[in-house]
Amino acid sequence: MGPKRKIALCVGISVVGTIIIMAGMSSIPGLFIPLRYFIVGIVCSSSISTPVCILLVQQGEENKRLRFELEARVSELARLADIDGLTGLLSRNAFFDRAEQVHRQPGNWYLLIDIDHFKCFNDDHGHQTGDAVLHAVAHAISEALRPIDLCGRLGGEEFAACLIACDEDQALRRAELVRISIQSLRVRKPAGGTVRVTASIGLSAADPAQPIETSLHRADLAMYEAKTGGRNQVRRAA
Ligand code: GH3
Ligand code: MG
Ligand code: MG
Repeated sequence: MGPKRKIALCVGISVVGTIIIMAGMSSIPGLFIPLRYFIVGIVCSSSISTPVCILLVQQGEENKRLRFELEARVSELARLADIDGLTGLLSRNAFFDRAEQVHRQPGNWYLLIDIDHFKCFNDDHGHQTGDAVLHAVAHAISEALRPIDLCGRLGGEEFAACLIACDEDQALRRAELVRISIQSLRVRKPAGGTVRVTASIGLSAADPAQPIETSLHRADLAMYEAKTGGRNQVRRAA
């Protein structure tokens, strides 16, 4: 119901209520109320109830507007908390939350992806180039994954992905696709020119009997093997 209708309804109720009460009183023997007093009653009740109703309805409408605004802000904040601002991937917490939801399903795999010699991009070309590399790598990883897979930025230049329902060959091929997708990047530097980037990737089978952290830790160890093995490669956890 619109605000004007609400006001009209409230005023109507107060006027009708006044008439009913006065009619009731008038029917009591010895308490007859002449018509002119009815008119006074109607004028009084409507002139008092109209501004009060307007005030209350306006207040109600304002409360409704503020509630909608609050709900929109809360859902926007929840969305922002789930998204890593620099890369647009899931934030660390959101990645773990989503991975938790699929962790009991069989056939999932975790990828731990760490950009090689990332510090050099910052040191040699500036922090802005480092950020551009992070953004581009995030995009390259997303491109190489399927829509059902999960991908998040764990922090710094480290990303994690959860491959859903794969066998070992599929998981290895997907990890290799991610590596090639990153290796194919030519990231523009703000000052002009481009830089190339590679990443080392560890792969581990998700173990539903263990916490996610255990599977990710195994992927992390495999990723370090990829680093010591010469970087820009995929290693499967033992
Ligand atoms: P490795 O090949 O062994 O992984 O070496 P690395 O240089 O990639 O790793 P290292 O841990 O030495 O350096 C990571 C750097 O990432 C250090 C830190 O300043 C930088 N870094 C972390 N977060 C951000 C960020 O959000 N933006 C930028 N531009 N740099 C970041
Ligand atoms: Mg690292
Ligand atoms: Mg690194």
